[in-house]
Amino acid sequence: MDNLLGLGGFGLFVTWMSCAILGGMIGHRKGAAVAGMLFGIALGPIGVAFAMAMAGGRGECLYCMELVRYQAKKCPHCHSELTVKPAVQFVTKDGKAV
Ligand SMILES: [Zn+2]
Repeated sequence: MDNLLGLGGFGLFVTWMSCAILGGMIGHRKGAAVAGMLFGIALGPIGVAFAMAMAGGRGECLYCMELVRYQAKKCPHCHSELTVKPAVQFVTKDGKAV
């Protein structure tokens, strides 16, 4: 029965790793790959759900200092080209920095 136990443990490991990768991929789209991956590692499938629920990474526009989405190419407030990525910070759903 050792083999079966080993297989089960391996399956769980693979599932957990998939959660970490999936969390990282979801996080990456929101500019917070590491946070998403850590959610996946720490909480498994629940962490993936957490990553999906994240408000996403935001940063301050270098020109007008308004919070903009990390993926933004152009600031929606002052319409400047965002060639340099803003520093990522986490914000709550109502836009306050954490
Ligand atoms: Zn701006």
